[in-house]
Amino acid sequence: MSLIAAFALTVLLTPQPKVKPTPVPPGTLEAKKLEALKVEVIAEVEKNKDMVQQMVDQIFSYGELGFQETETSRYLVGILEKNGFTVQKGVSGIPTAWFARWGSGKPVISLGTDIDGIPKSSQKPGVAYPAPLIEGAPGHCEGHNSGMAVNIVAALAVKKVMERDKIPGTIQIWPGVAEELVGTKAIYVRDGFFKDVDITLFSRVSSDMKVSWGTQTSNALVSVRYDFTGVAAHSAGAPWRGKSALDAVELMNVGWNFRREHLKYTQRSHYIIPDGGDQPNVVPSKASVWYYFREIDYEKTKDLWDIGNRVAQGAGMMTDTMFASTILGSAMDHHMSKPVAEAVNENIKRVGMPIWDENDQALARAVQKELAVKEEGLATKVADMTGPVEEKARTGAGSDDIGDIQWNTPSVTLQFPANIPNLPGHSFWNGIAMATPIAHKGSTAGAKVMATTMLDLFAKPQLVADSWKYFNEVQTKDRKYISFLSATDKPAIHLNREIDAQFREKLRPFYYDASKYKTYLEQLGIKYPTLRVPSAAATKTDSIAPANEGGAR
Ligand SMILES: [Zn+2]
Repeated sequence: MSLIAAFALTVLLTPQPKVKPTPVPPGTLEAKKLEALKVEVIAEVEKNKDMVQQMVDQIFSYGELGFQETETSRYLVGILEKNGFTVQKGVSGIPTAWFARWGSGKPVISLGTDIDGIPKSSQKPGVAYPAPLIEGAPGHCEGHNSGMAVNIVAALAVKKVMERDKIPGTIQIWPGVAEELVGTKAIYVRDGFFKDVDITLFSRVSSDMKVSWGTQTSNALVSVRYDFTGVAAHSAGAPWRGKSALDAVELMNVGWNFRREHLKYTQRSHYIIPDGGDQPNVVPSKASVWYYFREIDYEKTKDLWDIGNRVAQGAGMMTDTMFASTILGSAMDHHMSKPVAEAVNENIKRVGMPIWDENDQALARAVQKELAVKEEGLATKVADMTGPVEEKARTGAGSDDIGDIQWNTPSVTLQFPANIPNLPGHSFWNGIAMATPIAHKGSTAGAKVMATTMLDLFAKPQLVADSWKYFNEVQTKDRKYISFLSATDKPAIHLNREIDAQFREKLRPFYYDASKYKTYLEQLGIKYPTLRVPSAAATKTDSIAPANEGGAR
């Protein structure tokens, strides 16, 4: 049987997992051809490593926050359309969200990754100490500037062989818009973007090259804003005529913080006050508090949210104010597909870690030294695949709304090694490596794993079938997906608008111009790596003020 015929058979057999597909036994012509194709796509990604570097640097330079990823999305959609993808833009009422497709028929392999940044994390890349590019501006200190290079460069390599060898199947590519706000993936699921998807491969920046399967530490999360309404009055002239919405916010927080003692250790909850009134002499008639409630699964998170609602009611009663609440985002806890993870893991072992040079290691060790964490440099070995995390080990963690997709299609997250180990997260420290050779090499390695895994999925109907069998018979046997969202909850696209307006024009002169500069480091005139001069580290003041920046502008 020719490879084309084998793949044609794949199309007929993959749509539903219940049909018994034809395996590709090792040693057959088809297996040998798959092997040759893997060698070919790895070489193709390597050939396109400058494209990886450009995408990583370009998105880093935009530094856009969740729901405001305008330049980033325009740039990515442009690349995909130029390469023959059909792109549906502004999906689900989210201006910066889009779904791109190329190919036809089954299987449909979906590639996702996040694209948003973090507030107040601007940092000059390659500089191993605090050095904001623009003070107070947002930046890519979560490393969400790197995943699209992984997915798109992998997809283009695979598309090339699919076109030539007439391999059927569909590639879907989409952005995790506003991941930091867990703002969109549950909406994508609700709006049907994963209905015909066979497998989802998600890529996420890490300091490791790694894949996992089963239950993970990641928490479910619901993001809720409480808006209190009181009565304004002169704070000095007639305070008794006022009903303070800010008092309600403060009492809600006090109530929650007392209640916190009697919640399970697995919960994580935190809040900010986006609106605390306007000025002290006006009793605040409006005030808001924004909570993230996190627990290990849907039920426990829902319970936490219910407690939050009751605490808000109590605060309203104490102050004679009213409140309304709005859900701003949500995420499900994680469960990753065992068969897909095993396939990814084989490709991880094949691709291996990037070859770091002394400059990469020097930057990593310098950052680790600044943070007084283990000065181990960059990882040089791929990490072992890990299985399910036991419930007793789930003692609180972050969240990612990729969980919603994992409960709707077999899915895994590929962690690729584009950042430095032992960093605090959500801080400018995490941005230092993200437009340097560390991120470029790590993302290129990630793209190779992504491309080879896509080939496995297009070539082996048994793998897709096994993944659905695991999904139906193990993952969702006793647990069905329930979204935190109602049919009418809307994406919170207003979030970050003001910060975006404040910094957009300041960031614009720093956008990377790949037509003029080989790298963003070159454009910024930053010597790689720029390390603190030893004597400058001696005083406390110098640990905050930038030292010699090697000619950085
Ligand atoms: Zn994050």
